[in-house]
Amino acid sequence: MHLSIRIASSLLLCLAMLKAEGTAKRAKNIILFLADAGGLPTINAASLHGYGDAQKLYLQSWQNVALSDTSTASNWVTDSAAGMTAIVTGVKTHNGVISMGPDTVRGKQDGARLKSILEYAEEHNLSTGVLSNVNIADATPAACYSQSNDRRKFGEIFLQIFSPRFGDGVDVVMGVGRKPIYDAVAAMGKNLDEVARSHNRPIYATLAEVPAGNLRPIVVMDKDISLNEAAPMALRALSKNRKGYFLMIEWDAHTDDPKKGLDNLVNFDKLIRAIASMVDLKNTLFVFTADHSFELRSVGGKRGDPLLNGLEEWKKTHAAKESVQIPALRVGRSHTGEEVVAAAQGPGAGLVRGFLPNTRLFHIMMSAAGWKPDAR
Ligand SMILES: [Zn+2]
Repeated sequence: MHLSIRIASSLLLCLAMLKAEGTAKRAKNIILFLADAGGLPTINAASLHGYGDAQKLYLQSWQNVALSDTSTASNWVTDSAAGMTAIVTGVKTHNGVISMGPDTVRGKQDGARLKSILEYAEEHNLSTGVLSNVNIADATPAACYSQSNDRRKFGEIFLQIFSPRFGDGVDVVMGVGRKPIYDAVAAMGKNLDEVARSHNRPIYATLAEVPAGNLRPIVVMDKDISLNEAAPMALRALSKNRKGYFLMIEWDAHTDDPKKGLDNLVNFDKLIRAIASMVDLKNTLFVFTADHSFELRSVGGKRGDPLLNGLEEWKKTHAAKESVQIPALRVGRSHTGEEVVAAAQGPGAGLVRGFLPNTRLFHIMMSAAGWKPDAR
């Protein structure tokens, strides 16, 4: 009798622990870090460039790693539009298409409007944000908050911030591209500032203009936004929501200019490390990936030599449009189609492993949050 009571009580304790562990395995917050064009060769080179040795990036310390296929519904090599659509909606579509299905004809005919992880987060009353160091109406952030049959329709894309399909729409928007976005909206016969004011959401031109206490700021700068400043501001605003948040941060890592691209990835990685110290890692899922890889090849170099030795000399004698050839690297001009790294940590990160299609990342984020995708 005594024994059975002890067994029963320890069973109850086990169940309680399991339940507690189960609860902790749900991600309250999700941050998707998107290195645009930051494929495996670029990650490798960024570590060599930034630290003089392999596997020194913070994200290279994460335990959960997968290789993610980036092919589109029609092509082996993706652009940012189809690549990001797959990651945030779970559906492969065609190049140039923003979160619409493969029934879309680019620039001509809308397809099925897909629902992004950001929209699911809005539907579940979370706070949401998109940050980018490049045009905030371009493909990567656009796929999170809009649908369009052509990525070049910046006006149509950006205006969807003010007519959300779920919740109150994306809360924190910080990026660049002020002139092209204002011009595109003007070409539609609208004044963007008037639209924004009518929704009580003025569009600030700098981060410094955002009033303290504005939890839904829209900042569109001309160029050169500091994501190191923007990200803590965004996190302060988003984390006010007790239900949690979804945040996507894009940092361009195209290596057409190898120095710029590799510096970008090193700095993005530093930002990710800094963010890890600002959030509760027990209930925050981090996912890092690239929308596609890039034509950068490690062909030489040795320990002790800077990876970019010879680049300045190369630039003096070659046009900026030419492929770069220096002792350590060959860098072409195009996206490439091999798998990219997906890495994760936090609740739900264990599913990021093996070879997987980029669409799986959507389902991994959904299940980490405890949400089921709508039937399609
Ligand atoms: Zn891209």
